[in-house]
Amino acid sequence: MTSRWTRRRVLATGARLGAVALGSSVAGACRSRRVDRPNVLLVTLDTTRADHLGCYGYGRDTSPTLDALAAESVLYTRALAPGTWTLPSHASLFTGKCPTSHGARYDPHGSLVLASAIPNRPTLNEYRVRGLAPTETTLASVLGKAGYHTGGVAGGPWLKGVFGLGTGFAWWDDDGIGSVNGRVAADLNARALPWLDRVEEPFFLFLNYFDAHAPFLPPVDLAARYLSAPVPPGAPPTPEQTLALYDAEIRYADQHLGDVVRLLARRNLYDRTWIIVTSDHGELFGEHGLRGHGTAPYQEVLHVPFVSKPPLGDGGLGERADPIQLTDVMALVLERLGVPRPDGTQGAVPPKLGRPLMAESYVLAALYPYGDWFAIFDGDWKYMWNSQGASALYDLAADPREETNLLAADPERAASMERAMRQYLADLPRAQGDGPGGNVDDATREALKSLGYID
Ligand SMILES: [Zn+2]
Repeated sequence: MTSRWTRRRVLATGARLGAVALGSSVAGACRSRRVDRPNVLLVTLDTTRADHLGCYGYGRDTSPTLDALAAESVLYTRALAPGTWTLPSHASLFTGKCPTSHGARYDPHGSLVLASAIPNRPTLNEYRVRGLAPTETTLASVLGKAGYHTGGVAGGPWLKGVFGLGTGFAWWDDDGIGSVNGRVAADLNARALPWLDRVEEPFFLFLNYFDAHAPFLPPVDLAARYLSAPVPPGAPPTPEQTLALYDAEIRYADQHLGDVVRLLARRNLYDRTWIIVTSDHGELFGEHGLRGHGTAPYQEVLHVPFVSKPPLGDGGLGERADPIQLTDVMALVLERLGVPRPDGTQGAVPPKLGRPLMAESYVLAALYPYGDWFAIFDGDWKYMWNSQGASALYDLAADPREETNLLAADPERAASMERAMRQYLADLPRAQGDGPGGNVDDATREALKSLGYID
């Protein structure tokens, strides 16, 4: 059986044709001179599991744009989110630090009050987060100082300016995020494409497509393509229908990513642009008795896509099985661009030799009473520590679905991995400085409420 963790890329003929249509040539890459200061396009497909994408072996055709890019890319088969939900994962992506060190996460003592105004829910008085502190050095601020034009367009409410993730961008667009589905890809592109059409080189553009985040409300024509039968009006979708709607949302975001790539090609910037497409976390659909994300760090949540289409001339295309995390993007990008890394960057250019691979999930008891989680990896072994004692040990090579907890069978391995985890966490610098403070505005609160973060 092919492991989901190590599943090899499947390149359909359509994907290859798509790559040609995008206006580049793999063969040409070998003969071309290296681009000195490439543009950087960084995309997060929010909530998108790697195993629901064609380039990671999924059976349904959800991602023709990404599959075409993957054919001209470095495709990391072991990419991991460092957190289990949007805010901490994006903060790691932008700062190169672990959640413990950048501090952007759920925090009962956090400076941002999200829910004290919600009536009849006194426990939600502790629904607070700590945003990303404005004193943090971000990839955008470093690239801005290095002469890059920087812009970001956000789809999801946790990327609204109040949470600090726009720190360092010269232009950060979060207008109109208040609807039940964040801001859909078409609205995001309506802001991103005009900027991309006129920006001068070099540029750094970040896009967050939020469409694959629940609730899954794809356009009717796309829903029909993935549903075997329509969802009756007023009826909740079955588990199978929910997956079909999720896949349709992935396809919707992928279509709009295609518009961005085509604009790059039309401006003759495709070959001079480094395109990185990843996700901040995946989604659980009943596996392990869980739905959604932001809780236990199972692979359905941690294993994210990571497709890196380098500028023409860089070479090194193909699959890579050494692990990469969003925390590593700062190091990866700055090393290639020849820009010094800021102090305190914890990520590393893969392979991450000598560093444990970890993910952290801080929760709020008012929302999830089953405790904080940490995951640490050692090759194919994964140890999940839980603050309420529900820890687990898995052999991902033999058991990619994490169905057999080997904690009792191999207590020495679990103890050793827990020691390594505690040592690494103890050595991590703690976040300095407060995130943005006060109460979030009514529109942000309504957006969070509509997404189910607040009752
Ligand atoms: Zn997210």
